[in-house]
Amino acid sequence: MRHSITRSEELFKEAQQVIPGGVNSPVRAFKAVGGTPRFIARAQGAYLWDADGNQLLDYIGSWGPMILGHNHPAVVAAIQQALSEGLSYGAPTEREIRLAQRVREAYPSADLVRFVSSGTEATMSALRLARGYTGRDRIVKFRGNYHGHADSLLVQAGSGLLTGGTPSSAGVPQAFAELTLVADYNEPQALEDLFQRYGEEIAAVIFEPVVGNAGVLIPTPTFLEALHHLTRRYGALLIADEVMTGFRLAKGGAVELFGLKPDLICWGKILGGGLPVGAYGGRAEIMQQVAPLGPVYQAGTLSGNPLSMAAGLATLETLFQDPPYERLEAYGAALEQGLQTLFAEAGLPVAINRVGSMITVFFREGPVQTYTEAVASDTERFKAFFHGLLQRGVYWPPSQFEAAFFSTAHGPEELDKTLEAVAQALKEPA
Ligand code: PLP
Repeated sequence: MRHSITRSEELFKEAQQVIPGGVNSPVRAFKAVGGTPRFIARAQGAYLWDADGNQLLDYIGSWGPMILGHNHPAVVAAIQQALSEGLSYGAPTEREIRLAQRVREAYPSADLVRFVSSGTEATMSALRLARGYTGRDRIVKFRGNYHGHADSLLVQAGSGLLTGGTPSSAGVPQAFAELTLVADYNEPQALEDLFQRYGEEIAAVIFEPVVGNAGVLIPTPTFLEALHHLTRRYGALLIADEVMTGFRLAKGGAVELFGLKPDLICWGKILGGGLPVGAYGGRAEIMQQVAPLGPVYQAGTLSGNPLSMAAGLATLETLFQDPPYERLEAYGAALEQGLQTLFAEAGLPVAINRVGSMITVFFREGPVQTYTEAVASDTERFKAFFHGLLQRGVYWPPSQFEAAFFSTAHGPEELDKTLEAVAQALKEPA
């Protein structure tokens, strides 16, 4: 039953000779769970095949973009068409307009949309814009929310709530980190305290409207209310980072699902259909501050790249023509229910957080609403669960603190396979 992974092992050794840690994004190295990462050779629908030919039922979906499953024919055809017309021109194209129009259709509050090449660029640019627009320097982020790897965002809480943050990565200047205030998700009183002290200096609050990057955390209504109320009262901008949730939780993402009213929105992942993309947008009055209209500079050689635009356009058109959100919800509800039953039978306390097609099984008793509660999970048990599934051909994210994603290619067969693998893994962990 154990997968043979000789080729992945060889490739991982070779990769480490030429790439730091053998990977181009840290979580891929399986550091949190140990073992050898699978090198992927190809993908189709809900499945990946590794370099040894093992089939893996994919619950990572490239960390979010692959909501239609891998190699969706409409997306592949659109890329092939674009490919035949040239790769990159560094000049405007019609597809950029069409994709911006699609984004606006889903997010009517975004009058203007600017495309970039990654989620990191989107959040970084949105923050610069917020600072330029408000003339203020401080920003607020939440512990356990991830917005990419720009300097201002690789910051953790300082020694007390009412101090600036400290770098969470070497190489981030303390002076930058001090301008980032770190608050706790789903803790409105703490946010209010922060605003009372620094309100006039805060340019923006950036947040994940459903957190995926601490495992799934669901915003409470009082927290969302406080975000809106405090940013309005103090004249700060509210930035919804929908890089993970945009077009996934609903056509209009978490903004639609929760009726949010952010000033700026960031997108990525699904918007590029599996090719590199990011975007930010909002009210015209704010977006008009961006160059060449206004004084806030932002640019990109490959911004609006024809292949990314084509893949994104095909993905959004497919999603909008036949919205899959009810089907994804039904799959998610059945998966959640099945997992609850299996864990209860095994006598193992877990808290399962899910919104639509994003799910996390926290290995601890619930509820899990805050980052502090999430990090108190039993990561050793998670490791055993992860490897138990992987050996049985189910590719769950290799960290307790990452969301699992599923796609429109996941159906009843995949649900059965998953629950069968979980049942076995609980009986006989790795
Ligand atoms: N924002 C959120 C919510 C994300 O989940 C991520 C990436 O996982 C980013 C921003 C950064 O996006 P990228 O990895 O494309 O730079």
